[in-house]
Amino acid sequence: MLTHLRRNTLSDHVTEIRHPLMQHKLSLMRSKDTTTDNFRRLLREISQMLAYEVTRDLPLESVTIETPMATIEAPTISGKKLCVISVLRAGNGILDGMLDLLPAARVGHIGLYRDPETLEPVEYYFKVPDDIAERLVIVVDPMLATGNSAAAAVAKLKERGAVTMKFVCLLAAPEGIKVMQAAHPDVPIVTASVDQCLNEHGYIIPGLGDAGDRLFGTK
Ligand code: URA
Repeated sequence: MLTHLRRNTLSDHVTEIRHPLMQHKLSLMRSKDTTTDNFRRLLREISQMLAYEVTRDLPLESVTIETPMATIEAPTISGKKLCVISVLRAGNGILDGMLDLLPAARVGHIGLYRDPETLEPVEYYFKVPDDIAERLVIVVDPMLATGNSAAAAVAKLKERGAVTMKFVCLLAAPEGIKVMQAAHPDVPIVTASVDQCLNEHGYIIPGLGDAGDRLFGTK
């Protein structure tokens, strides 16, 4: 029987969200028969849930407000402002859903592609808010595969001054988690699923194929 746990904290640093809605939508995304428009919509919906989870421990403070009926001390989010960093291009699919829930967040973009021979990341674009050091930075990329791009993106953000970071992905391979945890043990990972492994081309198994191609319909 499938587990119906809502969250599965695999270690201090990896949280796999087991919510039934998330699992259902993810299964639809994995199917090779799912169309581009449905894939895009499902990723946006799942990303809203990922945003919910990754912001779970944001601090609150009380402010005085008046409802039509009474004056109360009401909780509001305090502390660091947010910044969402999309690892191009597939990261933009998660970004959209994140911004639905976090409309005031600042946004940055990092362009990295994987050298098909070495599987190493090569940077081609980098633009992030100047005040990134003062923000909680949420780095988004649907597929944590080898972990090389994710680790390089986080390293680059640290160079620019980012201090507090979380990494959000749709699927994570155990190999990628290992690389990220070795390079950046201070960066928690939130994912919808920890999959089985990588194949020899660096694709996640069972995965869902190339997230960018499926999101943008480029193949
Ligand atoms: N990137 C993808 O889009 N899919 C994978 O399976 C691995 C990396």
